[in-house]
Amino acid sequence: MKGRILSGMRPTGSLHIGHLSVLENWVQMQKEYETFFMVADWHALTTAFDDTETLNEKVRDMLLDWLSVGIDPGKSTVFIQSHIKEHAELHLLLSMVTPLSWLERVPTYKDQIQQLGKEGRDINTYGFLGYPLLQAADILVYRADTVPVGEDQLPHLEFSREVARRFNFLYDAHVFPEPQAKLSKLALLPGVDGRKMSKSYHNDISMTEDTEGINKKVRQMVTDPQRIRKDDPGDPEVCVVFTYHKIYNQEELKEIEKDCTAGTIGCVDCKKKLAVKIDGVLAPIREKRRELEKTPDLIDDVIGTGERKAKEAAESTMEKVWKAMGI
Ligand code: SF4
Repeated sequence: MKGRILSGMRPTGSLHIGHLSVLENWVQMQKEYETFFMVADWHALTTAFDDTETLNEKVRDMLLDWLSVGIDPGKSTVFIQSHIKEHAELHLLLSMVTPLSWLERVPTYKDQIQQLGKEGRDINTYGFLGYPLLQAADILVYRADTVPVGEDQLPHLEFSREVARRFNFLYDAHVFPEPQAKLSKLALLPGVDGRKMSKSYHNDISMTEDTEGINKKVRQMVTDPQRIRKDDPGDPEVCVVFTYHKIYNQEELKEIEKDCTAGTIGCVDCKKKLAVKIDGVLAPIREKRRELEKTPDLIDDVIGTGERKAKEAAESTMEKVWKAMGI
């Protein structure tokens, strides 16, 4: 029997090129697993509870990107978290059995409060403290046995496993499988200025960027700051452009490295080569998205079908939960 995967993304509107490797992984997983892909709109509220006006629009925009990359609603259950109320129900029940100290020691908790505090956002809320438990409920409500994660998210998954174990132990039942990590090697792309890629920093390359937009963004990319003249020898390892070449231009990588260190290629030409490669990757996605946009009811249909499939699975788990608890 195929394993069951649960994964999700917060709705941030149309996605950027940094999300592409996650989605490509998902597309691959569709072939090997029973896949549940969730738009985590409640999770968006844990850090942006006062910014709900455009949330629905962002959800739809993101779903169009998913489909454009190859997420297939015929193979995967694609759904919106807030449409499946069982996530909230299970979150509540698990909150009764989860020690507060488990939540307080989640490594990212204090870091994120501090980080977002610096950006002027106060997230000292009950919802933010509880978001790892909501994540646990998201996974466990589908009895998913596999979760794709990066190394940095392993503590969150371990937390979900501990919660599952505790529930099973307390009620002497095997309701929840302990979800296993599927470690994914993701291409970590910096923003064009070398910082973390983020829409809010305006340093991202959108997945829907047109050729002119790509050229402009690549021209803005930070290169080796020591390189002043075209024939100065450069250090590709400190250059954002080269980081992208490593992912999108394997064929010419050796040559670019050699020419850069010898000072025989200028950064302008090097960037032009990269822009062509990125455009080659994004053009078919843009094209598919334009096609999909011609069907106005498409996203509503996808959401409706996904909701039915997700609800069926979540209801079946909740029956087991209530039975185990004897309520
Ligand atoms: S030649 Fe290319 S790799 Fe070298 S510093 Fe310029 S942009 Fe970067």
